[in-house]
Amino acid sequence: MENNQKLAELLFPDVRETVEDLEQRFPPRSLPEGAKVTRFAPSPTGFLHIGGLFSAYVSVLAAKSSGGICFLRIEDTDKKREVVDGVSGIIEGFRAFGIDFDEGVTGFDSECGDYGPYVQSRRASIYHVVAKKLVQEGLAYPCFCTEDELSALREQQEQAGTLIKGYFGEWAKCRDLSFEEQEKRIRAGEPYVLRLRSAGSAERKFSFDDQIRGKIEMPENITDAVLLKTDGIPTYHFAHACDDHFMRVTHVIRGDEWIASVPLHMALFRACGFKPVKYAHVAPVMKEDNGGKRKLSKRKDPEAAVSYFVEEGFPKEAVLEYLLTLINSNFEDWRRANPAEPLSAFPFSFKKMSQSGALFDLVKLHDVSKNVISRMDGATVRERTLAWAKAFDGAFYTLISRDPDYLQAVLSIDRGTAKPRKDIAVWSEVKDSVSYLYDELFTPDYTLPENISPAEAVAILKAYTAVFDMADDKDAWFAKIKSLCEPLGYTPNVKEYKKNPEAFKGHVGDVSTVIRLAVTGRRNTPDLHAVMQVLGKEKIAERIDRAMQVYGA
Ligand code: GLU
Repeated sequence: MENNQKLAELLFPDVRETVEDLEQRFPPRSLPEGAKVTRFAPSPTGFLHIGGLFSAYVSVLAAKSSGGICFLRIEDTDKKREVVDGVSGIIEGFRAFGIDFDEGVTGFDSECGDYGPYVQSRRASIYHVVAKKLVQEGLAYPCFCTEDELSALREQQEQAGTLIKGYFGEWAKCRDLSFEEQEKRIRAGEPYVLRLRSAGSAERKFSFDDQIRGKIEMPENITDAVLLKTDGIPTYHFAHACDDHFMRVTHVIRGDEWIASVPLHMALFRACGFKPVKYAHVAPVMKEDNGGKRKLSKRKDPEAAVSYFVEEGFPKEAVLEYLLTLINSNFEDWRRANPAEPLSAFPFSFKKMSQSGALFDLVKLHDVSKNVISRMDGATVRERTLAWAKAFDGAFYTLISRDPDYLQAVLSIDRGTAKPRKDIAVWSEVKDSVSYLYDELFTPDYTLPENISPAEAVAILKAYTAVFDMADDKDAWFAKIKSLCEPLGYTPNVKEYKKNPEAFKGHVGDVSTVIRLAVTGRRNTPDLHAVMQVLGKEKIAERIDRAMQVYGA
């Protein structure tokens, strides 16, 4: 047996499958021409970062807009970073935002799809098949260098001032060990890693066409990178090449910190005999800080974790709509032209993505969210509010779930009109927004406008009580408020008041403010007629009485 073959058997005695077998087990997908196969491949750190949601959404959009598919793969080869059940946190994060993957990991111990397993720690046998082939072809070798030897190497390179640092060329001590020595050390149980035997040259350059950044030219990889660690687990680099090939990925969408690794990845695809994937390197989500721009930070920014948006109560549609404004620069124009279209109708394009990092702006997200909620009907707002309150504000949930019809009436005020109310951005604001409609939360502020004394307020409220009729429609209701004005010394005409303020105590706006204050305990509310219809006759009478007492009646 030729040495490479003998070495391959020595290293992987149990591997019987071949790369050809894997090619058959995971055949090319039958998808329409041009369909993109993408994936999101987080490490199970138990935490979904907004940048992760951003990349995942890009991956889903790229797949869906081309008739392709997107799957979720868990990259758990770095056991040091892993947290207990870190997968559930990620999956829940996606579920909360309605991001649906077509295949891949679906739960702590479950997955769907024909290209699995979708968790890297369960794919060791696949990596070993490819690694064995590389050894057979002389493209990979075992390296027995210890940590100490590797740091000594770094120091020597430091001192020698070599331009490129790392394990390569004549620095690579184990690259050309004889088979006899390799065999002896392996049989003696010496730990080893498996390294790529790089065929690259520092003098040669190659280029690739990044889907977002265009053509990028880089020097070839020359280092003999680690493929399998001492425990036989692959490095990210080797796993990436094997997984994205056998899962038949066409487009890898990932953070731009990986651009520097593309030369190695290209070398790996070539060595393994795989067709390289296309790359789209996404710039990180940024935040404005002291006039500058920086990456959103897990430590400093609560909004870095997607759980923040769930806890605050942003509707998922608003977060996705806002992310799309960051993802594609033409989204807002599209939205203006297509106000009612679902997000899935937007024609996503890599070319409209920012190369320098989109700026995450919470204020803008609030605005987007207000618009999204303003388009919802009362029943939807009710269901979403109940769901949020159930999870995050038990006392409020108990209160509002008691009478769902009343809650819906409350939340339907000024909704479904040509100019719907836009005062709610997050479900956590609903409590404050509706508190005056629940006696248990009613904390009125009866402060009168400056030109109205408490005695005047009592006079207005008495006069109003005498004419108030629950059956009045909005016009009749307002006509009555106007009719109170003159007998009490106010004018129903605001212009007239402005022309001649001395002639009146105030105008119809002051009269209705007094009524609004008595009924709601607030200066600003949605349409008062609608509010009164929801409150009902008895409550209105009770509230007016209470206010009159406060004003000293
Ligand atoms: N597991 C890698 C990370 O979390 C993913 C990179 C990739 O998408 O290929 O950074």
